Amino acid sequence: MASPEQVKRYLAYWFQLGKKVKVDNGEAEFFPKSVIQGDRYSPEFEQCWEQILRSDLAKCYLEGSNQTLSQLLQPNWDIYPCARCDMPVPILSVGLQSPECACADLPLWPDTELPQPRSPIDSRDRLDSIRDRLTQKP
Ligand SMILES: [Zn+2]
Repeated sequence: MASPEQVKRYLAYWFQLGKKVKVDNGEAEFFPKSVIQGDRYSPEFEQCWEQILRSDLAKCYLEGSNQTLSQLLQPNWDIYPCARCDMPVPILSVGLQSPECACADLPLWPDTELPQPRSPIDSRDRLDSIRDRLTQKP
């Protein structure tokens, strides 16, 4: 089962490639102007995520994908990196369905020249790892 945090990260990555969240066959859509601000998610993205959580998740899906957001939160779905481009993709954790990454309709993707979609940097983790490196001198 994907956790709400994983679904949030999944959307954050795809928003950075220009994908939108559609509601009810495109009756409405969500797309924040920005996703990352410094080392955290942008206020626009946080607000967008709150709006998505308040809407009917059974009618919300990422543009180009077949799974609704409420399906992703059910026990038989997980989110794993796409074999082609490492983007987060919903995968049935039981059964035989192959992963369908929404990258399928992005002909110019993956593009290693472009900045890659990312999570906000947790600077405390980073500081911890720097500290660990410094204290582990041979
Ligand atoms: Zn992909």
